[in-house]
Amino acid sequence: MERTLLLVDDEPKILSALRRLLSRDGYRILTANSGREGLALLENSDVDVIISDQRMPRMTGVEFLSEVKELFPQTVRIVLSACSDFGAVTEAISMGAVYNFFAKPWNDGLMCANVKEAFRRVEVNRKNNQLTRVFESTIEGIMITDTRGVIRVANPAFTAITGYEADEVIGQTAKILHSGRQDKQFYKDMWQSLLDTGHWQGEIWNRRKSGEVYPELLAITEITDSYGRAVQYVALFNDITEQKKNEERIAHQVYHDALTGLPNRLLFYDRLDIALAHVKRNGQKLAVMFLDMDRFKNVNDSLGHSAGDLLLQRTAERLTQNIRKEDTVARLGGDEFTVLLSQLTNVGSAAEVAEKILDAFKRPMNIDGHELFITASIGISIYPDDAQQAESLMKNADAAMYRAKDCGRNNYQFYSPAMNARALERLALESKLRFALQRGEFMLHYQPQMDLYTGQIIGMEVLLRWNTKDWGLVSPAEFIPLLEETGLILPVGEWVLQQACAQNSAWQADGYPPMCIAVNLSARQFVQQNLVRSITDILERTGLAAQYLELEITESIMMDAVSAKLKVLQALKATGLQIAVDDFGTGYSSLSYLKRFPIDTIKIDQSFVRDMTRDPADVAIVETVIALAHNLKHKVIAEGVETQEQLALLRRLGCDEIQGYLLSRPLSAEVMSEWLDQQLYVKHQAQG
Ligand code: C2E
Ligand code: MG
Ligand code: MG
Repeated sequence: MERTLLLVDDEPKILSALRRLLSRDGYRILTANSGREGLALLENSDVDVIISDQRMPRMTGVEFLSEVKELFPQTVRIVLSACSDFGAVTEAISMGAVYNFFAKPWNDGLMCANVKEAFRRVEVNRKNNQLTRVFESTIEGIMITDTRGVIRVANPAFTAITGYEADEVIGQTAKILHSGRQDKQFYKDMWQSLLDTGHWQGEIWNRRKSGEVYPELLAITEITDSYGRAVQYVALFNDITEQKKNEERIAHQVYHDALTGLPNRLLFYDRLDIALAHVKRNGQKLAVMFLDMDRFKNVNDSLGHSAGDLLLQRTAERLTQNIRKEDTVARLGGDEFTVLLSQLTNVGSAAEVAEKILDAFKRPMNIDGHELFITASIGISIYPDDAQQAESLMKNADAAMYRAKDCGRNNYQFYSPAMNARALERLALESKLRFALQRGEFMLHYQPQMDLYTGQIIGMEVLLRWNTKDWGLVSPAEFIPLLEETGLILPVGEWVLQQACAQNSAWQADGYPPMCIAVNLSARQFVQQNLVRSITDILERTGLAAQYLELEITESIMMDAVSAKLKVLQALKATGLQIAVDDFGTGYSSLSYLKRFPIDTIKIDQSFVRDMTRDPADVAIVETVIALAHNLKHKVIAEGVETQEQLALLRRLGCDEIQGYLLSRPLSAEVMSEWLDQQLYVKHQAQG
């Protein structure tokens, strides 16, 4: 680049002497013999360095250069002066109008060296100016901190992005920008990288002055001194909010159906895989539904594609409204939709959802002014019953959907026919069950228990019965699981307790010998919050002493989350009632709990009793259980005793009590009273 020097002096001799001297160094040299002429020259040419005489008529060198400073601040200005002018010159230097001065007469070598230095100065200034322009105009935020993270410099883009003016943040640490979204470890790693490599780069969430949190792409570089020690850090960053939004939009497009906004096939399979992994771990079920609009093609053909599109959108809305948040509706394409029910407590609830969906289509859809009645056919496949893998679950649901079409459309079908029948049955049962309590369809039966030493009736088990108009008496084996799944077991269980305690109290009031009444408690009841409270309330209300109530729990209650349940059991025991373990031997018997839990009685399951007289192994089991129970000071009762032979064997083995058809079938309270009268009469006769 050409280096231009302007010489200003009113003495032509000096001008030519300087020109001769300095042209050797290759500068382009302009000359003027007054300040005014110099200013005129500066207007038209780029000048880097000016040497001006101080003493000139009309305008002194300092006056001239002061004006130049205003007009052309980037020039480097030098005064040539006699000693007597030093005062004015020194002042001009301190004002910045003059960069340097030479005393007359000058030394040639010194003069050349100083001019060279002045041009070097020009070069440095030029570079600084360029950097400043970059710093000022770049769209990247720039922040310079010291080694402790205190902000020293911030550019306009910093202000534009963060909302902080430079002077608001200078002197503060960079923590002012922290959003709280990164943890301590994140910043620790960042500093470690800076210490190790002098560099860190990554995405980070920061907070603007307005409080808004935004993503930025940040690069931090360490600046070292000549000894290699870090002195500053330069941070460059971009606001990538828009970029993130775009990425999200694209990701959404990849995974969603453009017409309905529903997840597409890709996302559906994704969710299905995740859900499968989940239920495989926790042993739950899930359902995949295939749904196809009936005669969708007719709509498309007769009303046109835009009507068809509208119909699909409405369908998507209705489907979404009828599933839970955690389930997924997807559009696979055309008029095919799929639904994933991810956590199924029972197969019946898949049927319920299908019913709900079919119901939702019963309202007509208004499409372009036409009232359309549209129906759908649904196929359902269940993991793990129908298939284990995503692909085959989908295939089976698809096959089931075609069967639904064959069955006349507007219905749902399970993949397995057995499941179909069961689902229907259960649905019917469930809806009836919901009203059974209000309608007074539940009743209790009582089955006596006898002490084998004294021959006395010392207790009875309460067994729930459901008396329906259509089906007569329904076995608890059929409806208890359903009560549990629907949560109805809680109100019904409470009703059972209340009824049983009241009945026992009434028998005692009627003068029957006091007996203990055994009530079955399901796992669901056992974990209910206020169980202990509600039992003590019932005892109080019915006036029954706690010792005459026994709760039958199953082994499974004692298997998991042992300590919490242990507390409940202890609290129950503390009220003075009795605890029995029902169906002993059928669960994953762990003998260790028998020691830890406050148990009074062990009920040997009827399956052992049944086979005892035929299978010596069962005799051994019963014998062992009795020995073990006695060892732990528990009472043993055998249930399901039907024959004298079984009774004799149990007696020999040292069993304490029995219950079973041999004594009596479960009886209604009324019949039970008669039975008890008869027992007392027989005994009385025997004694008398
Ligand atoms: P569980 O507690 O083991 O009740 C004994 C079952 O064996 C009763 O069946 C009873 O009728 C039957 N049984 C009694 N003696 C004999 C016999 O000699 N031979 C044969 N083959 N069976 C006999 P049930 O009444 O059908 O009750 C079935 C299960 O339903 C009960 O088993 C119990 O777990 C549950 N359950 C009954 N009532 C309630 C209730 O109020 N609440 C809860 N949570 N569960 C109940
Ligand atoms: Mg029982
Ligand atoms: Mg039992």
